[in-house]
This record gives sequence, C-alpha cells and structure tokens, in this order.
Amino acid sequence: AGCFVFAALNINAQENQQKTDAEISSRTEEILSKMTLEEKVGQMTQVTLDVIGEGEDRYSSYEPFNLDEALVKKAVGKYKVGSFLNTANNRALPREKWYSIISKIQEINSEETRLDIPIIYGVDEIHGATYTAGATMFPQQIAQGASRNPQLVQRGAEITAYETRASGIPWNFSPVLDLGLDPRFSRMWESFGEDPYLVSTLGVAMIDGYEGVDNNIGNPEHIASTMKHFLGYHAVTSGKDRTPSYIPESALREYHLPSFKAAVEAGAHTIMVNSGIINGVPVHANYDLLTKLLKEELGFEGLVVTDWADIENLHRRDRIAKNDKEAIKMAINAGVDMSMVPYQYERFVDNLLELVKEGEVETSRIDDAVRRIIKVKLALNLFETPVTNPDDYPKFGSKEFEQASYNMAAEAITLLKNEGNILPLKKNAKVLVTGPNANSMRTLNGAWTYSWQGEKVPEFAQSYNTVLEAVQNEIGKKNVTYVPGVQYVEGGNYYEDEKADFDKAVSAAKKADYILLVVGENTYTEKPGDLNDLYLSDNQTELAQKLAATGKPVILILNEGRPRIISKFEKQVPAIIQAYLPGNYGGDALADIIFGDVNPSGKIPYNYPRYPNALIPYIHKPSEEQTKAEGVYNYEADYNPQFSFGDGLSYTTFKYENMELDKSSIMPNQSLKVKVKVTNTGDRAGKEVVELYTSDQYATQITPDVKRLRRFEKINLEPGESRILEFSLNPEDLFYYNAKGEKVLEAGEFEVQIKDLKQKFELKEK
Ligand code: BGC
Repeated sequence: AGCFVFAALNINAQENQQKTDAEISSRTEEILSKMTLEEKVGQMTQVTLDVIGEGEDRYSSYEPFNLDEALVKKAVGKYKVGSFLNTANNRALPREKWYSIISKIQEINSEETRLDIPIIYGVDEIHGATYTAGATMFPQQIAQGASRNPQLVQRGAEITAYETRASGIPWNFSPVLDLGLDPRFSRMWESFGEDPYLVSTLGVAMIDGYEGVDNNIGNPEHIASTMKHFLGYHAVTSGKDRTPSYIPESALREYHLPSFKAAVEAGAHTIMVNSGIINGVPVHANYDLLTKLLKEELGFEGLVVTDWADIENLHRRDRIAKNDKEAIKMAINAGVDMSMVPYQYERFVDNLLELVKEGEVETSRIDDAVRRIIKVKLALNLFETPVTNPDDYPKFGSKEFEQASYNMAAEAITLLKNEGNILPLKKNAKVLVTGPNANSMRTLNGAWTYSWQGEKVPEFAQSYNTVLEAVQNEIGKKNVTYVPGVQYVEGGNYYEDEKADFDKAVSAAKKADYILLVVGENTYTEKPGDLNDLYLSDNQTELAQKLAATGKPVILILNEGRPRIISKFEKQVPAIIQAYLPGNYGGDALADIIFGDVNPSGKIPYNYPRYPNALIPYIHKPSEEQTKAEGVYNYEADYNPQFSFGDGLSYTTFKYENMELDKSSIMPNQSLKVKVKVTNTGDRAGKEVVELYTSDQYATQITPDVKRLRRFEKINLEPGESRILEFSLNPEDLFYYNAKGEKVLEAGEFEVQIKDLKQKFELKEK
C-alpha cells in the first residue's frame, strides 16, 4: 500500500484499455485469494460522502468544500469500505473539485489498505453529469422516450459518460429501465415511457452510450451503467413511492422484465434493486428475483447494489426482519452484492462479519459478491487509473455537446394539438408569455439537476434560456409581454402555487395576438414528489380558463414530468405542446418549434389520461374498451385517453400506403417481413416515427392485449419524398406469459398495424 502515483493519472482519453474476460477473471481470483474476510465485507459496503457514518450533515457549505479526511480514513482504513456515492451536501461541484475529492479518497485508500483495491465511486448522473457544475444537461428520460431516436439517446449517454469521467467518476446510477406506466408515481419521468419495447430499445441505446457498444468500460471515456430499479419499482399499487406493488408473475415477465433482460444481454455491468415490496415481499429480500431470476435465469454476472438504506429498511420500515442483523442476512442471502448503506456502515460491516462467522451467510456467497465487485473495478481500469483527470477532457461543456442536448429536445417536444394549423406562429406576432413555468430553468430540467430535488439552481445554470428568454430571442423583446399569472411558492412544497398578477395576465392577454401559456409542475422526485391530485393545479387551470375566455388563442405548453389532467379546459385551447422536462436547451428548442424553425417530431411515450379515474395504458385489455357502436354501450369510463401513446403532430403530413406482408402465415421458426411506404405529402421536410404494432386475436390462456409496439423507426423525409420501410418480426415477438409465468407461443391469427393500415397473418403450429 501507499504507492498512489499521480503520474498514473496522465492517461490518454482516447486510449482503449480493454481487458479480456480471462484476464479479469484470473486477476480477480488472485486478488480474492489474498483477501481477509474483513477486506471482503468492506468491499461490499458503500457509504455516502456527505455523512460517512456520523449521522449529521458534515458539509453544509458549498465552497470551500473540505473533505473530512479523518472520516475517510476511518471508513477505508478501519472498515475497508470499497465504495462511495453521491456528493457533498447534495450539490453540484466543479469538476476540479470532484477530481480533488476522489483523488484524495483514493490516496487515503491506497495509504490505509494492504491490497490497495481502488474505491469505486458512484453518482446519479441521470440526464447529463447532473452533479457537475457546467456539464451538459439533457432532456430527462421521459422526453428522450418521446424522441423515439436511439441514436440521439446513445449520443447523449456518450457525452454524459465523457463529462462524468471528466469529473473523476466512473459509475453512474442510470438508466431507469422501469416502465413509466402511472402518472401518480413521482418518478414516471425518470423512465422512457410506458411501453416495454420502447424502454428496452432506448435503455440499450443508453447503456451503449455509457459503456460503449463493446462494453469496454476501461476506456476512460466510458462509465459503468446501472440498470434500475430491478424489478417493477414504478408499478406501485397506491401510486406512492416505495409502497407495495401487487404484480402477477405473468405481468412481471410480460411487461417489466423485458427491458432488464435486454440490458443484461447488452452487457450492462451493474444493477440496482427496487426499494419496494412486490406481492408482500421486499425485493431486497427476494431470493427468487435477485438470485434465481436475475443471476441464474438471465445470467447476470455483474454487481447488484441495493438502493438507499434498503437493507436496514427490511427491519426499520418493512418489518420483515426483527433487527438489522437479520435484515443483512436476508438481503445478502437473497443475492445483494453491495449495500448502499449509506450512513451507519459500521453496523453493516460488524453484523455481516458476525453472520459469516456464525455460518448464517456462507463464505461462498461473500466470495461471489466480492468477485462481482472486483471484476467491475478491474473492467473500469481503476487499478491503473483510480481517478480520471478533468484536464484530459477538453470537450467538457463544448458547443458540440450543447448541440446534442438541443437536438434531443428538438426531437422530443411533442405537438399534441394544432387546430386550424395555428402553429407555427409568424415571427411578427405579439405574444403574451405567461404561466409559472414560463421563466424557470428549474422546471425545464426537473429533479436530479445540480441537486436531488432540483430545487437549487446555481448561478452558472441561470445562463441558459428559459421559455420566455428563448421566445424573446426569437421574435424580439418588443413583441413579448411577460406576466407570470401564477407562480410556485418560494421554498414551499413542489406542488404549491399561488396567483401572481393573475388579473394583469388576463388583461394583458386582450392586447396580444397569441398567448403562450406555460404550465405544469415544479421539480420533484421520489417520496417528496408524491401527489394526491392528478389534475393540473387549480390556479393554473383557472388561469388557462380565464385566458381562453378572452377569445385570444392560447398555445398551451406543458412542462411536466407526468401528464397532469387538463380536460377541464382542453377544448378551449387550439394548440397543445408537450415539452416534458427538456433540459437546458429546452426553451430554445420550444421557441424554434413554436415559430417554425423546427418541425416537431416527438411522439408521446404514454397515454395522457383524460380523467384521474381513467389511468389506462395503451397496452390494455379488450374489456377496458367497450364497443363504440351506436346504441350499444356508451359509458364515460370507456377507454378514451386525452392523447394516446404514439400521438404527435408535424407541420407536414405523411401518407402511409402499400403495407405488404411477405407471407400470410409463418411457422414458429420463421420470420415475417412487413413493408410499408411512407410519403411526405406536405410542403416542408419532416421527421416521422413509423411504429409497427401487433395484436394477438385470441389467446387461450390469458386475455390478449389490444395491441403491442414491436418495432419503430424514425425517418426524415423531404417534401414529396417517399421511403419504403421494411420490418422483420419473429415468433419471439408473438409469445405471451400465462398466469403461471410460463412463456407461451400459441398458434393462431395475429394482426399487424402501422398507422391505420392493418393486415392479418397466421402463426402455424410446428
Ligand atoms: C434512488 C436511486 C438512486 C439512489 C442514490 C435512491 O433514493 O431511489 O434511484 O440511485 O438514491 O442516489
């Protein structure tokens, strides 16, 4: 120990340093053979930088930040802790600061430990390097889901990886592979959307961006990704964070598992466990999910980390374990490899040591966990380069990176309604810009931006354009009046808003040609983001109604993490744009769409509910959709979303024709080719997302879904240009899971749908 060499940090950022699997395995065994039990248990322990075991916030000021070296010494020296996470006092830090902190931790680790196994440092860099000052903030995942553009998702993740490494951090707790199914859930926006295929495709694209398509995380421009939160985290029955879920085996496998399966196959190195409880069993204590399903059936060889304090939660919250020690026994035996303790780590280490000595946790289980951890550390080249140096990352925050974030926002923002083609607006229009989200960088980014709840917008982050500023840049300040009308309560809960110049906004509307009303939500995530009412707030709803009553056209811009219900006034507004949480360049992209510099091409990644009691995803069952035939049934609760998954308008028009299937029936080992011709029939260039759905006409063991997305492709067409797209479907796209969770491929009739074109084919028996 003690030979920490700073010269080792002079790496060439382009260099490719991939170790072979065989090299990693043999070095892992060599290291493992030298380790004491104490050293092994320490490796399984992850602590947070802001407290490190003292139970109180150690670092209350932003600058200067002084790492408490004595605390680090205790953690790594005495307790042999192998991993750290998060940032001091939940703040974004300059990357040089990150570098000095992580260097210091590695240096202390090197001096204090016998085997000099580097620390692995993990952070939530979920839409860009969110905890690094000046990094490129991308649209949040829900917006990326609307872009339907895997190349842009991958590019964004590559940049995030680069800027994360530029901060000395090698491990990212991203992407979220959960389904954004339920707008009551406070983290819906952290997902790519409600569809398993969409989430799988974009999830893999994001992992490819973080880890490289070759999963060479030794490349100093790549990072280790984390698939999270395994499994079914977003599907809570009450809609509230970290409350029980009841998910049948068939649904777990049919809907929630595919994205994780695809990501495991794509080689993702780490995974985080769902904090919640499924069918009564906390997932952190679930051997069937963590070991049998994940490690054995899916063959996941990487590292399983807990979510925040979730081992002690087995005792302290979920009461499935009578004390902390029993909780640790349950979780480690269920298959957890690393505990994000993250505070009272001494207790975790001491208890786990005792459990092994008492034979309650097998040494082989410890070895398996430590093997997985060391392998990731080796793959990351942390032994050679314990921390990467910001000086080696000259492209940090560059124009090229900003452009990639802008491009994503421009392709994500979704035009949901455009009556009489009121949009795009002419640049000589006089507009009133109003609403609580009109002049806020905080709301454009959402949470996990410079801090957990996104409420701390540092000064450097004010330099980007809010919607108001972007509109002013676009058409000149003299054409723009701004009155907030409603504002979020300063320092209040995220859902609290109040009237601010409300009447003034309404009277200003009378003098404008158009009203740009920017509404939605303030930032939130996790428990603090729980919500009791899905309607857009009363104040914002009233503002919309009063503005619409002036007779001036209202362009409604939604800046929200989840669909807040707008049916109380939707009919009164001629245009609606869903901006989601579009990031630092979201204001610019939005202004470019409103004034016609950009042709919108986003497609909504979830069903937008019309009523709070009508939260039905597009993948629904036939009984949720009564027949619309006249005189038959006409219930208000018929499947009738405000906007449907896949909706999104363009300023041009596309014609779909000539759908052709190459066979009218296939055998279980055959594929089916589907062709379709798409033409841009309007007078401006536009991007279109071509989506292919299938529906199983009858399934004898389970009621079939009405339809399922199987393929999509985003294309660009010039005016008058046509493209013939060809998709290939396999029987793998046609199975379902029965009530026992068994995979069933059942012969029978299926339908292919692309836009309004539909055609049937048959899957034959063997
Ligand atoms: C969240 C995770 C996150 C972790 C570390 C937890 O509260 O659920 O998504 O990665 O904290 O910050």
